[in-house]
Amino acid sequence: MNQLKERFWQEITAANSIMIAGHIRPDGDCTGSCMALYQYFSKEFPQKETNVYFESVPEKFEFLKKIQERKTECSDGKRYDLFIAVDSSDKERLGEAGVYFQNAKRTICVDHHISNLNYADLNIVEANASSTAEVIYQLLEEEQIDCEIATALYLGIIHDSGVFKYENTSRKTMEIAGVLMEKGVNTAKVIDETFYQKTYVQNQILGRVLLESMMVLEGKGIVSCVTQRMMEFFGATPADLDGIIEQMRLTKGVEVAILLVETGVLTYKVSMRSVKKVNVSDIALKFGGGGHVRAAGCTMTGTFHDVVNTLLEYCEIQMK
Ligand code: 5GP
Ligand code: MN
Repeated sequence: MNQLKERFWQEITAANSIMIAGHIRPDGDCTGSCMALYQYFSKEFPQKETNVYFESVPEKFEFLKKIQERKTECSDGKRYDLFIAVDSSDKERLGEAGVYFQNAKRTICVDHHISNLNYADLNIVEANASSTAEVIYQLLEEEQIDCEIATALYLGIIHDSGVFKYENTSRKTMEIAGVLMEKGVNTAKVIDETFYQKTYVQNQILGRVLLESMMVLEGKGIVSCVTQRMMEFFGATPADLDGIIEQMRLTKGVEVAILLVETGVLTYKVSMRSVKKVNVSDIALKFGGGGHVRAAGCTMTGTFHDVVNTLLEYCEIQMK
């Protein structure tokens, strides 16, 4: 890490213009990590031109300082000295921001996905880290981290560690969280208002998906589906589905949970979670996706039953 940190700072020092962007449909880790870097560079290097881009930001993250300064489109395709890809395991997941990656003079990728394809000039990928925010914390100087930067990092850590409960949570995660707490983060508020709180619509759609879920693999698997009609009926957006797969995973006896979200004709965004045996990242990679050992996703085509049966076959092989 020390050597990577040194190379990271060489790149930052050499760049006069920096673009930061994460993956499509940014989650808490992606948003918090990008904003921590953006706030840090804006504060420490006001002479540099630093920008941050998001495809969209869930409303619950809008409280982060300076998030209103983000870019929301990439049509200028500007050639930056340095592009930093955050929390994105492959180039495609950058979405529209891929144009900045292509055009940049130098590129860095900061990530924690085991499936990361090391696609940048400098790749800082720690697959054991709870979150990209944890990796970013280690790149920054502790003394320069103010309460707002700490809040963005803390947000990233709690979202990707499921508030410190997933397997990826380590002693280091807790120690970093401790330092961030001492910077004055309102931890209870960040946890409640960005992680646990749900809108009425989110609760309703959660209820509906659980109601229609099915146990498979003799009680070791659970599958469910969100159709476009359901999304329209509830007036829901993809961000309203956060946490549903986690509730499915927590079903007693379940080793693997699969949620299909219909995105087009016979097309599904697949989310997978496992408890302690199935490597869902391996399965997602077979279908052009990726993620972590216990949480991964991909996009697949076919009928609901075709897609589910294909995935369950791979799960079964691993559970033998
Ligand atoms: P989720 O199920 O919450 O959408 O994603 C779980 C994990 O898998 C996340 O870490 C996410 O980055 C990764 N993931 C989900 N979908 C894809 C995908 O289509 N491609 C890749 N490379 N990773 C994905
Ligand atoms: Mn992440």
